[in-house]
Amino acid sequence: MTMDTALSYTAGAAYVGGQIVPIAQAAIPILDLGFLHSDATYDVVHVWNGRFFRLDAHLDRFERGMAKLRMSLPIDRDGIREILHECVRASGLDNAYVELICTRGMAAPGSRDPRDCVNQFYAFAVPFAWVATPEHQKRGLSVHVSSVQRIAPESVDPTVKNYHWLDLVQGLYDAYDHDAETALLSDAEGNVVEGPGFNVFAVTAGVLVTPKSGVLEGITRKTALEIGAQLGVELGLRVEERALPYGELTSASEVFVTSTAGGIMPVTTIDGRAIGAGVPGPVTQKIGAQYWAMHEDPRYSEPVD
Ligand code: PLP
Repeated sequence: MTMDTALSYTAGAAYVGGQIVPIAQAAIPILDLGFLHSDATYDVVHVWNGRFFRLDAHLDRFERGMAKLRMSLPIDRDGIREILHECVRASGLDNAYVELICTRGMAAPGSRDPRDCVNQFYAFAVPFAWVATPEHQKRGLSVHVSSVQRIAPESVDPTVKNYHWLDLVQGLYDAYDHDAETALLSDAEGNVVEGPGFNVFAVTAGVLVTPKSGVLEGITRKTALEIGAQLGVELGLRVEERALPYGELTSASEVFVTSTAGGIMPVTTIDGRAIGAGVPGPVTQKIGAQYWAMHEDPRYSEPVD
């Protein structure tokens, strides 16, 4: 691996074609089917105060996604880990959004057979990007439950982290049209599933509930479920993974969304109506505090070396 030092890495660093380059120099071939067909899987892990958070859980999910898409790489898990560390090191960032991508690659000339492709690995580290900034999280997000239906899990497996985002992006525009800041989408049965880059939780009648199926198994979701189970007795809650109907969501005492790009983010308005008291609630705040505290815990985080 060689490093191009001629250009600035302050905006981020990427691994492309076996090299670490400044993010502005990173480009993929236009014929890569990751670009042409969204034939790719990816993951996003973050670095907070110089430490990767739950990197192994992200690598596990990435490997599971690749296996489901019948992709393989000549780089092993340790090699990928080293590349991610190197991207962050090159960028010099303490707080980073780190993406790793496996694409189908390019088809042989004249071929439409994905088995002919050589799968490709790309990665990059850029400054941390928030679904909602810490300031914004203090007042909570305003959400619209969109009429755009989430792509069916029978069509695109949502547990494989993927770039099939047209429904999520249409949902976002729908939310803007309804004077909301972001969107949640529902499945064919009308149960709320997830939004553009996040899972959703509701606190309702002694239960912390999050949708079980039709969603990406978010690492932040997993962390919130673990914290919820640990704090359950103290909070007077039990944790349930099951369908979340619209009516249960809107009548919840608290709602929050979870993402690597922002953590545990309170939702205080849905479709123009206040959730609970209209301010971030105690369960959300406790889970959020515990989530960020885990970032210093070596059982869940490792320093960028
Ligand atoms: N759901 C979708 C569709 C996502 O794209 C993401 C993350 O980008 C999430 C949920 C949250 O997953 P995580 O907590 O692993 O960031």
